Amino acid sequence: MDHFLYRNGILHAEDVAIPDIAAQVGTPFYVYSAATLTRHYHLFTEALSPLPHLVCFAIKSLSNVAVLKLLGDLGAGMDVVSGGEYRRARAAGVPGDRIVFSGVGKTREEMRLALTGGIRQFNVESEPELRALSEVAVSLGVTAPITIRVNPDVDARTHEKIATGKKENKFGIPIARASEVYAEAARLPGIEVIGIDVHIGSQLTELEPFEQAYLKVADLTRRLRAEGHDIRRLDLGGGLGIPYTRSNEAPPLPTDYGALIKRTVSDLGCEVEIEPGRLISGNAGLLVAGVIYVKNGEGRDFLILDAAMNDLVRPSMYGAHHDIVPVLEPPAASPTQPYDVVGPVCETGDTFAKAREIALLAEGDLVAFRSAGAYGAVMASEYNTRPLVPEVLVRGDQFAVIRERPSFDEILNRDTIPAWL
Ligand SMILES: *Cc1c(COP(=O)(O)O)cnc(C)c1O
Repeated sequence: MDHFLYRNGILHAEDVAIPDIAAQVGTPFYVYSAATLTRHYHLFTEALSPLPHLVCFAIKSLSNVAVLKLLGDLGAGMDVVSGGEYRRARAAGVPGDRIVFSGVGKTREEMRLALTGGIRQFNVESEPELRALSEVAVSLGVTAPITIRVNPDVDARTHEKIATGKKENKFGIPIARASEVYAEAARLPGIEVIGIDVHIGSQLTELEPFEQAYLKVADLTRRLRAEGHDIRRLDLGGGLGIPYTRSNEAPPLPTDYGALIKRTVSDLGCEVEIEPGRLISGNAGLLVAGVIYVKNGEGRDFLILDAAMNDLVRPSMYGAHHDIVPVLEPPAASPTQPYDVVGPVCETGDTFAKAREIALLAEGDLVAFRSAGAYGAVMASEYNTRPLVPEVLVRGDQFAVIRERPSFDEILNRDTIPAWL
């Protein structure tokens, strides 16, 4: 459920009419609903209660500092995968003890940043990382709280680019080697082992892969405890999928996911963390674009938008589907026609949808891409020197630009011409 509905024939974000935002901000832009973000965060906290838990928002899915502040103020933790994201979480006012640091390639500089600024735990992904972290911690006179990310070798049955829990993926250590690696961790002077981490992929539309993974983690917990490790926290990752089409998809609900977690790990008495990104942010955002031209092609019509692959890369990168709807609601039973929906970028890959049935549209009309809150703005670039797409946050009847569209002067001033040229 989200808070983007037609009212009197006009698409709204909560109580704000999308055309009003477009008039002030220009298109394209992203718009997020505070109510949807809040609701999704609460779905998870309710699903996990009364287990001791922390819901850590995976901020790589949507990292605007205003959004992080909104979620942080509700009590959310944050899952960060870079020093930059760590800085964002801190800038949003999230205390270090609610930030977990994931990622396969943490640098020593990033470790230092988090150890001095405050960190809940590092989710360590390899032995070299473990040794580096111990060295950095010792040099600072502290110990680093860690979990080790294990790779449970389960098939998440999702898009190959976002499956992370098979043994051929670069993530984590093989679960079969866990005893050995935990033993090494326990010997390192700068490391304090506190738990286990697992994350098997993104946009999972079934619960079984989670169940397989969590049962393996539960077994591992018992084994590591028997080997003398104080396993008291389980980070169960993110990855719960969302419906990208209104009609035919019904991914599992957070309630069912929460019940699964309780069923598989609650008897261990561990504190549980989860790291949802997409399920909190995905359906909390729209990308709004304007129609530049309707071009009649050979056997097909092209809807040429002012948004392009640089603003929303998911269709060209993952073949992802986004529902595209007119901002002015077409009257009931009005005709539709198939459009190839494209952007202005000079690549055939700059195609959002092929032969998509949409109500008849004309130059200057507005359309909205649904479910664009996650992995949308964060993956945007300035390819073709198209200014980075702005972001807007709505709450009730208020809206604010939370990231401005840069001016062309700002863009050009980032480049410098060497004196010797
Ligand atoms: C990407 C990622 C997540 C979030 O995945 P979603 O599918 O957005 O929920 C969580 N944890 C880790 C380690 C990740 O890399």
